[in-house]
Amino acid sequence: MPTESDTHYDPSLGNKFIFVTGGVMSGLGKGITAASTGRLLKNAGFDVTAVKIDPYLNVDAGTMNPYQHGEVYVLEDGGEVDLDLGNYERFLDIDMTSDHNITTGKTYQHVIEKERAGDYLGKTVQIIPHITDDIKRRIREAAEGTDVCIIEVGGTVGDIEGMPYLEALRQFAHEEPAENVLFTHVTLVPYSKNGEQKTKPTQHSVKEVRSIGLQPDVIVGRCDDRLDRQTKEKIALFCDIPTEAVFSNPDVDDVYQVPLMVEEEGLDQYVLEHFGLADDALPEGERTNDWREIVTTDKTGTVDIALVGKYDLEDAYMSIHESLKHAGFEVGIDVDVHWVAADDLSNGHDGQLESVDGIIVPGGFGMRGSEGKIEAVRYARENDIPFLGLCLGFQMAVVEYARNVLGLDGAHSAEMDEDTPHPVIDILPEQYEVDDMGGTMRLGEHTTVIEPQTLAYDLYGDTSCSERHRHRFEVNPGYFDRFEDEPLVFSGTAGNRMEILELETHPFFLGTQFHPEYTSRPGQPSPPFLGLVEAVLEHSGAHSATDGTDADTETEVTH
Ligand code: GLN
Repeated sequence: MPTESDTHYDPSLGNKFIFVTGGVMSGLGKGITAASTGRLLKNAGFDVTAVKIDPYLNVDAGTMNPYQHGEVYVLEDGGEVDLDLGNYERFLDIDMTSDHNITTGKTYQHVIEKERAGDYLGKTVQIIPHITDDIKRRIREAAEGTDVCIIEVGGTVGDIEGMPYLEALRQFAHEEPAENVLFTHVTLVPYSKNGEQKTKPTQHSVKEVRSIGLQPDVIVGRCDDRLDRQTKEKIALFCDIPTEAVFSNPDVDDVYQVPLMVEEEGLDQYVLEHFGLADDALPEGERTNDWREIVTTDKTGTVDIALVGKYDLEDAYMSIHESLKHAGFEVGIDVDVHWVAADDLSNGHDGQLESVDGIIVPGGFGMRGSEGKIEAVRYARENDIPFLGLCLGFQMAVVEYARNVLGLDGAHSAEMDEDTPHPVIDILPEQYEVDDMGGTMRLGEHTTVIEPQTLAYDLYGDTSCSERHRHRFEVNPGYFDRFEDEPLVFSGTAGNRMEILELETHPFFLGTQFHPEYTSRPGQPSPPFLGLVEAVLEHSGAHSATDGTDADTETEVTH
């Protein structure tokens, strides 16, 4: 909230709530639209937070396959949540908690536990009011202490599992003063064959929203281009809102451009006026403008980084992609990420690594692709290619070194090979008795002590760092002495736990047991990622963006 000296906002007016629903189809990027609006409100001086509602029955995203919902994002408090929370953290520059991800699993579990405890004695426990009350309570609690809370409902209006949430939002709006609530509906505006923007899908989805008792205040049309005036007028007329409340959200090259576009469309100003906050916002000239400066940095070239993973899906490694972009903003280059199937490398196809400037082996679970990941580490180590290993990538670097340098034949992680003669990576002692899969790993933020005069120290510029974790296995203490007097050193530790490794004889070879990608932000790139990109620039320089080396990268950006 702007301080008293720069605004006259009266906090007794209470929180403002922006509800965001989606129509026509999922995957329209309503999260990015919402986060972008939030970013602009933050630039205008307000404290903004967000809640993501996932109507699935899972308690959290921790047990989900990345092919279903993309990466599992890890919060400071150890919450394993939907990747949209990553977008909110990056766009709003906030640290969220598990309470900011509401799922059907969480709500029902809580209500059923209360029922078993006898809290509802005598009553019939029902979706309305018990589940809906719990949903409203969670939203109010998550919003506490902030000015504006954005609540995004996952999925599409009309989904059966989303119904209790929409009913809860209807009640919520009924209970709050009208000027404290704004409903935004994000929908698709496709083109017909003859190039006309079609509003019928929007009309139908708004009809669906209204049948539940919700009336959108704002409609955002996702389209290849900006919406024509005529399209906006048509949507306004048939959906019963002013034309000024219909906004475009056209495709852009990069999600970080969306706040700039939302600003051009005037969505933030419309929201401020709806809430009666326009006079409380910082004047235009005094608003933070660093976002624009960061994301529009001139790029002098391109570097190519291989991401050796299991899933051929950008969303499965979203935070890594974003961290590389943040590092790229900092040094003024584009980072092209080339997904390389770890499986292919295990079949001896390491030619795919010849054309890249740097290699990342990301986190992961299970046997599939592990030999390929080890092969990628070997290639990077032997050929002086800048290398970053994250979590499983760190573990595979230890395995590779044990096998190929220390001569420990058959060394492996006990996760992949229970019978390995050399389990250099082994289960965490506290995991011996753990059977349940959900929320049971070593999770969340832990502090790592960093050895001075090391690469890790240079990168973090400190004798400690706090990063987020998600693992069940670690370097086996029984093998620590084998690494003594080796150029591979563990430069970061947490008690008896190895957290960072580096290779003194290599231009840039770093592995982290933690996941630095979850704390990287535009303007505050994660040190290991920045280090990698800088090392790549030093090692092979940037290519001109037009020399064709980026031919097979993911250039199509959707949000
Ligand atoms: N599978 C490994 C472990 O559980 C690594 C986990 C990860 O990469 N997030 O320790």
